[in-house]
Amino acid sequence: MSEEVKAPGKPVNKKVSPGVQALRDVVENVYAEAREAKKRGEPVGWSSSKFPCELAEAFGLHVVYPENQAAGVAANRDGELLCQAAEDLGYDTDICGYARISLAYAAGKRAAKKLDPTTGAYVIDPNSGKPLKDENGKVVIDPVTGKPKKDPKTMKPFTVLDDLNEIDKLPEGAEKERRIAALKNYRQMIMPQPDFVLCCNNICNCMTKWYENVARMHNIPLIMIDVPYNNTVEVEGANVEYIRGQFADAIKKLEEISGRKFDEEKFEKACANANRTAKAWLKVCDFLQYKPAPMSGFDLFNHMADVVTARGKVQAAEAFELLATELEENVKTGHSTLPFQEKYRIMFEGIPCWPKLPALFKPLKENGVNVTAVVYAPAFGFVYNGLEEMVRAYCKAPNSVCIEQGVDWREGICRDNKVDGVLVHYNRSCKPWSGYMAEMQRRFTKDLGVPCAGFDGDQADPRNFNAAQYETRVQGLVEAMEVNKKAKEGDK
Ligand code: SF4
Repeated sequence: MSEEVKAPGKPVNKKVSPGVQALRDVVENVYAEAREAKKRGEPVGWSSSKFPCELAEAFGLHVVYPENQAAGVAANRDGELLCQAAEDLGYDTDICGYARISLAYAAGKRAAKKLDPTTGAYVIDPNSGKPLKDENGKVVIDPVTGKPKKDPKTMKPFTVLDDLNEIDKLPEGAEKERRIAALKNYRQMIMPQPDFVLCCNNICNCMTKWYENVARMHNIPLIMIDVPYNNTVEVEGANVEYIRGQFADAIKKLEEISGRKFDEEKFEKACANANRTAKAWLKVCDFLQYKPAPMSGFDLFNHMADVVTARGKVQAAEAFELLATELEENVKTGHSTLPFQEKYRIMFEGIPCWPKLPALFKPLKENGVNVTAVVYAPAFGFVYNGLEEMVRAYCKAPNSVCIEQGVDWREGICRDNKVDGVLVHYNRSCKPWSGYMAEMQRRFTKDLGVPCAGFDGDQADPRNFNAAQYETRVQGLVEAMEVNKKAKEGDK
């Protein structure tokens, strides 16, 4: 695990575990291979996170995932810059933040380190960096300002917006080289531009318009799998037939894009890998049922990108199996990646605010609250046997099922993972998710007898999050959980 802790106690090992490292490597490879393929002139696709990846895997096509990229950009604090860039291109501020980041990226907009035009040096942001410490580890105070001095080694340049299209037009020379070197190059910022797009609207219909726009911008093929919303718990047979027909059409288009025939054997292999990955991932998620949990629920958020990016690859299956073994060991030895004692257990409902992860974590840590249930994570565990079940599995994404199914899933996880309360993220970006949350919150309280609190936020645009409101809501939830706990103890 990333930060091993003997629960309850101090970190005993800050090293990244082999399982976590293996997952990082798998994802790095997917992106690195896509970049290499692009350089060789091979087609690279962009895919929505719940498009059946097995189809592209059957052709050995290279595919990358804009939702993960947008989450990564947001977590690296560049979400606002790219959301604003999309708005300046005419996209409305009410469009999902992932879509805005991705549309700006597709249009060539990039986050870059600020350059001084006269010297060509980076312009350092005086507010960046960690406090400077003396040889005794004490923070050095600036005698003039009375504030802690910054450690110059940790200070960073301002981030500004640049444009690949403008850079491309520059004559070869020092200025062009400097602007290229200034582009921020964390993993998610170096995703190749697409030659085709794979879109499945089983998560939302914003996705459809987002991918149509990318396809139009680059004049490239769009392969669309349209999944009807499930008004019933069971998936209708007619819907399965409708989607199977679209699979056949997608295969034809992928044959044209790749210049290869559909390889049944490769497809079967990809399905086997995807199932193996899904089972191992679900096993990892299930470790949160242990009390105290052998990991922090925030670990699952960090592994979401891994399961999306590589679930059709055998390396992902192996890495998740390794991670599950490590968690099993944590349970046996009483270790946890949670860096504090678990006092309360909650379900975190919705996608986290990626740009504000430390702010989300802080009040939870202060109050001993571990996230032990996350409906968003197991939603990527597509397990099936055969094509018909595969189609049905892809119909069951959180935003494509009726409220009864949605409540049932969540309440099942809450019971299995023994939560004391629920924290609901009203995510301004994800309207299909947040729309029915007020009713869900009402049902959780009634059916589970646990308190629920909601806060306003956004998974990618930090302008929609208010730390003070969040802290107040967490405080309220903790107080209600405390009252509940005392009442239960009094009943004994
Ligand atoms: S609206 Fe929600 S489901 Fe759709 S892309 Fe955005 S975050 Fe994902």
